[in-house]
Amino acid sequence: MFFRRALSALAVLAAAVAVPLAVPGQAHAAPNFKAPFACGQKWTYSHHSAEVRRALDFVRSDGGTTSGAPVLASAGGTATRMSQPDGAGNYIVIDHGGGWKTYYFHLASYSVASGTYVSQGRQIGTTGSTGNSSGPHIHYEQLYNGVGQDIRINGSALPYPSSYGQYHLTSDNGCSSGGTAFRTWGSDVRVRADAYLSSAVVGSLSGPTDVVVVCQKQGDTVSAEGYTNNWWSKLRDQGGFITNIYIDHPDAKLPGVPLC
Ligand SMILES: [Zn+2]
Repeated sequence: MFFRRALSALAVLAAAVAVPLAVPGQAHAAPNFKAPFACGQKWTYSHHSAEVRRALDFVRSDGGTTSGAPVLASAGGTATRMSQPDGAGNYIVIDHGGGWKTYYFHLASYSVASGTYVSQGRQIGTTGSTGNSSGPHIHYEQLYNGVGQDIRINGSALPYPSSYGQYHLTSDNGCSSGGTAFRTWGSDVRVRADAYLSSAVVGSLSGPTDVVVVCQKQGDTVSAEGYTNNWWSKLRDQGGFITNIYIDHPDAKLPGVPLC
């Protein structure tokens, strides 16, 4: 009897809390979504006739390479790795709360573990062509309560052209967090939570990668590829540090990059 009363009291409480959310016309405001690719890059997009929901497919149109380009969280939320080999391929779902989710299909690789909270602009994967895909691109969707919505970036609705090259989107995702652009070299370079060989591995760079270094600091001395260096760079979009040996620059300590 006690439990019954307690439960019904809880149910009343839950109903009281739930009511304001159910008022028509009071749907949760969408997060301020930003482009799912790196600051300053320009991509073109289209919506083909057989497309699922209200997706847009993005490819680079600024001369850069689409394959392997970082895929960024368009808003903060909890990322989950998914896989559908005969369809979406390797993909990430980010749950932004309030019924809003974003999808990123056909990834070549994942950059975060399932369950990771990612801030807006954090790299979640690399662009690829896994699953049912005819070439490297980011298939991107915004969903509200499981229903695909017309995609809005920085609060503005994007058009839905049927072919590439008609409309372009330049990203400002992550621009405000600052940093200096560099390129890495080497393969399978480990990204660590801090500038020490004992620090947890939080990701890896499979090959040369465009990165943004926010700061640098001295940590463990690393010897690799004929170089020895104790300077490490903090990468904005990968959420961790790599040894400066793998930053494509002749100086052990990078010029113009502040100390962490
Ligand atoms: Zn698509």
